Amino acid sequence: MATFDDSLPGPGAADSIGTGGVSRALAECAIELLQAPAPDALIPAILARIGTVCGVSRIRIYEDPRQTAEGAEPTLSYQWKTPGLSPATPSATDGAAYALAQSLGKGEMNALLASQADAPLNESMAAMGVKSMLMTPVFSGAGRYGEVALEDCEAERAWSELEVYVLKLLAQMIGAALERARDHHEFLDISRVIQHSPVLLYRIGGDPPYPLLYVSRNAGRYGYDARDLAATPARYLDLFHPDDRPGALTNIKELAAGRVAEVASERRLRAADGRYVWFEDRTRGHYGPDGKLLEIEGLLVDISERKAAAARLEQVSSFDPVTGLPNRRSFMAELERAFIAARRGGPAFAIHYLDLDRFKDINDVLGHPKGDELLRAVADRLRRLRRKNGDMIARFGGDEFAMLQVGISEPSDAGALAARVIKELAEPYNLGTEVHITASIGIAVYTAEVSGPEELIKQVDLALYRAKDLGRNQFHFHSEELDAATIERVILGGDLQRALERGELNLEFQPQVEIATGRIVGLEALARWTHPKYGPITPARFIPIAESNGTIQRLGAWVVDAVCRQISEWRAAGLNPPPVSFNVSGGQLRGLSEFDRELCEKLRLWAIEPQAIEIELTESVLMETTHRHHEIIDRLRALGVPIAIDDFGTGYSSLAYLRSYRVDHIKIAQEFIHDIKAGSGDIAIVRAAISLGRELGIPIVAEGVENELQLGLVTAAGCQLVQGYYFSPPVSAAQAADLLRQGKLTPAAKAISPAAPPRS
Ligand code: C2E
Ligand code: CA
Repeated sequence: MATFDDSLPGPGAADSIGTGGVSRALAECAIELLQAPAPDALIPAILARIGTVCGVSRIRIYEDPRQTAEGAEPTLSYQWKTPGLSPATPSATDGAAYALAQSLGKGEMNALLASQADAPLNESMAAMGVKSMLMTPVFSGAGRYGEVALEDCEAERAWSELEVYVLKLLAQMIGAALERARDHHEFLDISRVIQHSPVLLYRIGGDPPYPLLYVSRNAGRYGYDARDLAATPARYLDLFHPDDRPGALTNIKELAAGRVAEVASERRLRAADGRYVWFEDRTRGHYGPDGKLLEIEGLLVDISERKAAAARLEQVSSFDPVTGLPNRRSFMAELERAFIAARRGGPAFAIHYLDLDRFKDINDVLGHPKGDELLRAVADRLRRLRRKNGDMIARFGGDEFAMLQVGISEPSDAGALAARVIKELAEPYNLGTEVHITASIGIAVYTAEVSGPEELIKQVDLALYRAKDLGRNQFHFHSEELDAATIERVILGGDLQRALERGELNLEFQPQVEIATGRIVGLEALARWTHPKYGPITPARFIPIAESNGTIQRLGAWVVDAVCRQISEWRAAGLNPPPVSFNVSGGQLRGLSEFDRELCEKLRLWAIEPQAIEIELTESVLMETTHRHHEIIDRLRALGVPIAIDDFGTGYSSLAYLRSYRVDHIKIAQEFIHDIKAGSGDIAIVRAAISLGRELGIPIVAEGVENELQLGLVTAAGCQLVQGYYFSPPVSAAQAADLLRQGKLTPAAKAISPAAPPRS
């Protein structure tokens, strides 16, 4: 092994090759390498040049194995050879020469002659056909790259000093070329990464108008030419969405004032095609020694996808997919805001809770897609009715909608809107077929006493319940007193369903008496409910509940059955009861056109003739029923079932129906009897009713006669039949049987104590 120093060989050193040619070749190679952007590409040409001027057979460059693993082979990274010579391939025997070369330090040389080399080196050289070899390591940047070797395959050459010098320079040039190439590639990699990344880099000047000095080329992703942008530097701020411009300017000023070193914010920037793209804009200031802002460098990260995903999420979590209206969650958030604003002295507001009447029927009959279509149509109408921007319409689910009405000056404002909504929604809908639907609305108005949005929702819920309860297609306000009544109804309503199943209901009977004889000419059956927890509940309380929650039909059917069974039991006990009347409310006839059929069935089942019973209908029920279900009354009459007009004088009195429906009894409402005095208006009504009855041949019953005075007055007015506590309160079936056996009643019968407390 021989080592050589770094100095340039002195004159006469060039013996085998010409000095001039070599130095020119070296100089040219060096210049070329310096100028080339990717100098590694020039290495093969340089090897050819040097190989030729040095007259060697081959130049090889090895790259050391990267990993330190045992037995890792070097790779032949470059090779030049004289034409005709077969190219060398790294082989096992190559390893010996390589191992020797690897032991060399920076600047060290190794000259080998095949004839002088020991095994296995000589075998290795023989295998490669090398007679003489000069090798030195290549260092690139901080580390060792590999080795370079000049090889002579013809003669055992004694390497001259110049050749040694050339190889040393060549090693340095290759090292430098490889390093520069690596830097270059790295640079290219970085710019490629930037090019393909959604991150834009930019720099702007630190003084107004903050000109754009540089923008990375990937601005092309947004349709811009980076150079064009930089050529019109004042456009920088214009690129922001008008709403985001003030924020961007504020950030720049903050950086200029040195208040912050770095700012990040989300902004929209306009792409070349005019659409706005969301970016995260991170800016950092560069300051001079005096602390003055020189430049701002910025990084724009495209966050449009994240924004879109967030918007989709927001859409899903805040909006109803069917109608596109905000959902309950959004509504509650808005309500919370309105509440806080009102608390701080802002305008009052109202909330409306709206429910479509019998929407279920539409779904059942027309199917869910049509149901959805109807919901969308309702949503559209509601949107049109929205008055102010602050107002909100939301769908709570099912057929329930809510409206927030802001800035009302008095509750009647809310009433006016609700009335408009009701009217508007009742207009027919065209869903292929024409569909009609109405809405019920509950209204709650903000007052300082309401504790919070939840309480308001509770109130509006009850108000809606009331609106539904009172017959739908109307609106109702919330109020304290209504609350209690409504809650009771809700609870009792649920219990009533079970009351029928558990036999908590029974009947009492109140005699109707012929004044002249004291004979019992009729019995009115009255329903009684003994609630397991609250005790006796009067029909005045539970009948309206049954009407509102749909239990009335089952209750009515139970009454019919119980009446028939009782008649049959009395008859079985050898009694001959007079006609037993019972009350039928509007709900029973309204929903059920089958009423007469069921009644007929029951009569047949208990073998009772129609004349043994009587149906009591109030004036208003009769009016409504004849109006809507003409045929039901006709059918009942055709069956031969007697009909009595109950509570006569309190309802809508059209005397015409008395003529067209020849009823069997007219029962004068208690209220006229209660305050009856000689010469009063009440007695006048009683008298008028009695003469009307006489005229039409209809017997009159005075109800609620409690004392001798009242009895005297109604008798004097011409009344022949009475019902009231003076003769008997409603009594149990067993007590009624006793009265029937007794046959005649005298006012003394009052001694029988009522089985249930008198009417409350
Ligand atoms: P209504 O048809 O007017 O029944 C007469 C009511 O007056 C009964 O009250 C009876 O107890 C009460 N009464 C009878 N004589 C007197 C009296 O001298 N003074 C006073 N102050 N009251 C008297 P009740 O049993 O509480 O029933 C109230 C209402 O509930 C009935 O009024 C009727 O409209 C309804 N109702 C009762 N049972 C049924 C039923 O089975 N079905 C239906 N649909 N309604 C029923
Ligand atoms: Ca009655």
